[in-house]
Amino acid sequence: MNISKPIDLTIIGSGPGGYHAAVRARLRGLKVAIVEGATWGGTCLNRGCVPKKAWYETAKLMEESTRIHHRGILAEMSGVDIPKA
Ligand SMILES: Cc1cc2nc3c(=O)[nH]c(=O)nc-3n(C[C@H](O)[C@H](O)[C@H](O)COP(=O)(O)OP(=O)(O)OC[C@H]3O[C@@H](n4cnc5c(N)ncnc54)[C@H](O)[C@@H]3O)c2cc1C
Repeated sequence: MNISKPIDLTIIGSGPGGYHAAVRARLRGLKVAIVEGATWGGTCLNRGCVPKKAWYETAKLMEESTRIHHRGILAEMSGVDIPKA
């Protein structure tokens, strides 16, 4: 990349909107800068879609664990370590 070339497009925010815009602009040959004020990846990566799916899997495992005795498994769940989850 030519670092002396001026930036063509500055994107505010690195969430899905921001990084998709950056990828599309790069594919068109533009030089792009992204400014992020908080956490890279935005809501989806850090607080929304991705963590939600992980929590959903944890919740499903907890729910399924209430039926393990029907399969002869002798175990007791005591709860979830929320920060670890
Ligand atoms: C709990 C939850 C679950 C979700 N699950 C799904 C899902 O399963 N599937 C799905 O498709 N969508 C889901 N979403 C929606 C998805 O997260 C959003 O649609 C998506 O994040 C929007 O992307 P965005 O880039 O517009 O905004 P954001 O992801 O919010 O990104 C905006 C970014 O801009 C930054 N920013 C804002 N202002 C400034 C500034 N002035 N200077 C510098 N940086 C700035 C912010 O810090 C942030 O990082 C979910 C949302 C939530 C809350």
